[in-house]
Amino acid sequence: MYRFGSLIAGQWRAGEGGEFTTFNPARPTEAVGSYTSASQAQIRRAVEGALKAQRVWRNATAVERSSALERFIAGVEQRADELAKSITLEQGKPLSESRAEVAKSCAEARFMAGEALRGHSELMPAARPGMRNMVIRRPRGVIAAITPWNFPILTPMRKLAPAVVFGNAVILKPSELTPSTACMLGEIAGGTLPEGLVQVINGAGEVGSQLVSAAGIAGITFTGSVATGRAIFASAAQNLAEISLELGGKNAVIVNDTHDLEGCLDQIVTAACMCAGQRCTAISRVIVRQELHTPVVEGLAKRFKAATLGDGMDSATTIGPLINARQLDRVSGLVAGGIQEGAEAVTGGAIAHVPGLEAGYFFKPTVLSNVGSKMKVAREEIFGPVISILRYANPDEAFGILNGVDYGLTSALFSDNNDVIQRFIDESENGMIHVNHGTIPDNHMPFGGVKNSGVGAYSVGPSVVGFYTTEHAVYVKRT
Ligand code: ADP
Repeated sequence: MYRFGSLIAGQWRAGEGGEFTTFNPARPTEAVGSYTSASQAQIRRAVEGALKAQRVWRNATAVERSSALERFIAGVEQRADELAKSITLEQGKPLSESRAEVAKSCAEARFMAGEALRGHSELMPAARPGMRNMVIRRPRGVIAAITPWNFPILTPMRKLAPAVVFGNAVILKPSELTPSTACMLGEIAGGTLPEGLVQVINGAGEVGSQLVSAAGIAGITFTGSVATGRAIFASAAQNLAEISLELGGKNAVIVNDTHDLEGCLDQIVTAACMCAGQRCTAISRVIVRQELHTPVVEGLAKRFKAATLGDGMDSATTIGPLINARQLDRVSGLVAGGIQEGAEAVTGGAIAHVPGLEAGYFFKPTVLSNVGSKMKVAREEIFGPVISILRYANPDEAFGILNGVDYGLTSALFSDNNDVIQRFIDESENGMIHVNHGTIPDNHMPFGGVKNSGVGAYSVGPSVVGFYTTEHAVYVKRT
């Protein structure tokens, strides 16, 4: 059993709020962790601790900050197996995916350790004689980081690493469904970073809400649902804190033409089914040219049928459970609604019963064909191993379907046609645009979305500097 309170100003303390428990979603009768929630007074103490630590840390040189982050990353790598296991036990994904998540989080953080050493300031021409003008960037201050349950290490690391390396203190509030991994990051920070620089506050939405509205918070970075993102945006407005919100997606791939249909389908399946489809970048819609409709439906159905549902700790498992009963209800409700509206479940379409794991939250990998672009399954984020197939006759229609949703996170096109490719790059209303491969992003590229998928600076890659630092125009006159 994992047991944690909150890490406040360098000390682990029992939370003064209530207790909560986490469960293994493959075996929900098994409790995995026991936690105590922080009280409002404890959150205030954490902000005071962060302000104190940041006042010192902001004077460290970029080289010192970068080396400190490298020490922290090495600490994470030392505990990689333990961290991966904690992800699978609370989140449910296959252990191989958890291991890859730990490795990716370290690779992204390592880019940040290098990025802090690059120039982010500018020398500008002066309007008046004897003047030197500069635009410089300085640490923002105390950052509140609120993270979801689908990537228990990747999302906290994506926020913690740039926060620290650009001279800030960070208070992390992990999801109450999967906090163990972030708590271990707190332990690693304890041995590698100055006291108070990284704090971990446990609790549910109420605790997150108190944290983001606390006085002293200069920036809020959040990954999660649109509804919670809106609530956080409103809280941020009260303190005029900077925000970076990474929200949902209704990502699509357009299959227009391809010389390698098998390879294309393999990539779609990976992008749709990793983390049981519970990724904000999961491919959820396949928009296919009508001539390719039959082979695409058949090829996807064959691959979805071949998946092995099971406990993520079992090496034979390719798709784990959904996170909880609420999510299972939501996915099965959306799929049932789609079928009622006229979609056809070519495979799957219902809750799965896995022998030996009868209480687990499993949903059958599902391919829906005959999906119309107005149906709810074609418009709402599903967050399950479900793919909807929509067909089109010409590229105008394809782009209409692609962009006809409220989200704008990621997108892919399979085509060797130069005109269609150029159009896709110009017209896809998404933060991320992939041509001839799935939606898996690189570790050093900006990551984020437009429309309902995000507001503020993208995370990952060089764009983060706009969020983690403040800008200052400096004028120096010769005397
Ligand atoms: P989901 O509904 O899928 O669990 P959320 O967006 O609600 O996703 O949760 C993501 C993170 O946001 C979690 O850490 C959660 O505790 C936190 N959270 C939920 N509500 C609020 C809120 N009003 N203010 C701040 N954080 C919140």
